[in-house]
Amino acid sequence: MTKRIPLSEPVLDGEELRYLAECVRTNWVSYSGPFVTTFERRFARTIGMPDAVALNSGTAALHLALLIAGVGPGDLVIVPDLTFIAPANAVRYCGAEPAFVDVTADTWTLDVEMLDAFLREHPERARVKAVLPVHLLGHPADMDPLLRLCARAGVAVVEDATESLGARYRGRHLGTLGAVGCFSFNGNKIITSGGGGMLVAASAADMERARYLSTQARDDPAEYVHDAVGFNYRLSNVHAAVGIAQLERLDARVAAKRRIAERYRAGLADVPGVSHPLEAPWATATFWLYTILVAPPAKRASRELIADLAREGIEARPLWAPLHQQRPYRENIAYRIERAPDVYARAVSLPSSVDLSEEDQDRVISAVRRSLAP
Ligand SMILES: *Cc1c(COP(=O)(O)O)cnc(C)c1O
Repeated sequence: MTKRIPLSEPVLDGEELRYLAECVRTNWVSYSGPFVTTFERRFARTIGMPDAVALNSGTAALHLALLIAGVGPGDLVIVPDLTFIAPANAVRYCGAEPAFVDVTADTWTLDVEMLDAFLREHPERARVKAVLPVHLLGHPADMDPLLRLCARAGVAVVEDATESLGARYRGRHLGTLGAVGCFSFNGNKIITSGGGGMLVAASAADMERARYLSTQARDDPAEYVHDAVGFNYRLSNVHAAVGIAQLERLDARVAAKRRIAERYRAGLADVPGVSHPLEAPWATATFWLYTILVAPPAKRASRELIADLAREGIEARPLWAPLHQQRPYRENIAYRIERAPDVYARAVSLPSSVDLSEEDQDRVISAVRRSLAP
């Protein structure tokens, strides 16, 4: 039997065990504890922010980020049509509705020209409270024109950088460019805490508000007095312990992902009909999941490739079904969408774990070449 090659697995190759043992030894296992504060401080320093709030998921970070941005019932939030569903759900948690805008053909992130058109001409444009760009698969959205547009329209920018820790836009870390930025440490992300997230905001008052809302909005903790409806969104010390050990390895992981991307690009360069992910001139991408597009006839070809790889013990995956086609969001605004369904039909993510060996990667490359051979 040949070994199974997973899409993206956690790799625990640092000080995880030592820090976990310390949690047990010191009895700090729950929501407060020294590792939580250390994780927040080190994470903030890594991305060049003064502060960060550790939370128990990236989705919780998105929810709080939208609340801080003032999103509430009756509001619209612009969300790219092609992304994991979490940001759309977070908009709903606030009582607001996502309005879906198309992605670009090359980076598959929010199309700023379409956003501009929406904000100029859509009959519901006055209801837009925030724009939520998703930095997809380790590649940034084109933030400068997006931030300019949003400033002009007076709408907040909440960045979903959950797939893109370590990636940069014109040298700046993703998640630090808008009003609020969100990160995830879910098991398949570039670093994991076993589950968790982080929120950073430009304003100190917003940071304070996020911390307050994440701890059940305690105004007087001794007397259990609460002036708002809060959430239990804090990260535990045990999760923070794992997160710190992983964060210490971030640079090595970004380098590993980029090396994997380079080898896929070279090994599959001459395969007809395969397009490779772009790294825009203004981007430093991490290629969190290396994702190719196969030529039309679309969906059947990509799903056959995935099935062929599965037969050889190689896990490959499609991207997410366009959000405007998903049952909870079929009635929502879907503005001039053409590309997201095409990318969805043709995209195949290849194994991208940071410890993927060259030998295993060569197995993937050969299997893709065999499957797509004319
Ligand atoms: C992973 C992910 C999230 C959610 O993170 P969790 O920590 O799993 O809640 C949100 N948005 C996108 C685009 C993601 O890929």
